Amino acid sequence: MVDPVAPTAEVKFRSDITVELVKATAADSDVAFAARVSTAGERSLDSVDADPASAAGLIRYLMRERHGSPFEHSVMTFYVQAPIFVWREHMRHRVASYNEESGRYRVLDPVFYVPGVDRRLVQQGKPGAYEFVEGTREQYELTNAAMRESVTQAYGAYVRMLDAGVAREVARMVLPVSIYSSAYVTMNARALMNFLSLRRKDDDSTFPSYPQREIEMVAERYEEEWSRLMPLTHAAFVAAGRVSP
Ligand SMILES: Cc1cc2nc3c(=O)[nH]c(=O)nc-3n(C[C@H](O)[C@H](O)[C@H](O)COP(=O)(O)OP(=O)(O)OC[C@H]3O[C@@H](n4cnc5c(N)ncnc54)[C@H](O)[C@@H]3O)c2cc1C
Repeated sequence: MVDPVAPTAEVKFRSDITVELVKATAADSDVAFAARVSTAGERSLDSVDADPASAAGLIRYLMRERHGSPFEHSVMTFYVQAPIFVWREHMRHRVASYNEESGRYRVLDPVFYVPGVDRRLVQQGKPGAYEFVEGTREQYELTNAAMRESVTQAYGAYVRMLDAGVAREVARMVLPVSIYSSAYVTMNARALMNFLSLRRKDDDSTFPSYPQREIEMVAERYEEEWSRLMPLTHAAFVAAGRVSP
């Protein structure tokens, strides 16, 4: 038996990404105490908040000299809803833990990504340093209409196969990569900095990167949450040209 699926299941379209901070043990003081154990031994935990200015200096030094391991003691878990094409890029980041919803054990919801009106549609420039510019109104309308038509047709085929008793893991093969999936992502601050250095475009970076806009939307939300949790570390990361330690 397959899960019941309403044949008229309404296909929904989104142009945004959900990122929620679920839990965190992440603080600038984690970095300071981890680094100070090398000179203060087991007493380093006593001095976490003793001298905030010196902690800021220490964090800047660690970042500049790329002493990365003290940043690994701060850990964040995010709940993310994003299209599959974003997950394909995200999961290339191996220094993270993932648990994702299953297309084998549950019927996938008919929720698909379409570019919003502010999503630049036209690519210019050379590989590795593309620039994206506004499309025309016609290009936007064509993109929007073609995506809506194609995914509605694909999801209809998915439902027909499920209703005919075909396994979920087979029926899903017809679905496009714009379908949303959800997962928990746990990363430490060092891995997160690596992610941010690669998945946000910032021309002031020492090594500018040119990520796809939709994964950059995930990175923007991660950075927003992380900078709130670890403001000194975030400031040191930016000051060091957004180079991951
Ligand atoms: C703009 C852009 C374009 C890209 N284009 C492509 C593409 O066309 N094709 C493609 O296949 N990928 C592409 N990628 C993916 C990219 O090559 C990386 O796989 C991805 O960014 C993850 O980076 P990472 O390996 O540093 O992260 P993580 O896997 O999280 O690794 C973090 C760090 O751990 C170390 N590490 C992890 N695993 C190993 C290992 N096995 N051996 C040695 N050190 C390791 C490295 O220092 C690494 O930087 C692209 C990425 C970006 C940002």
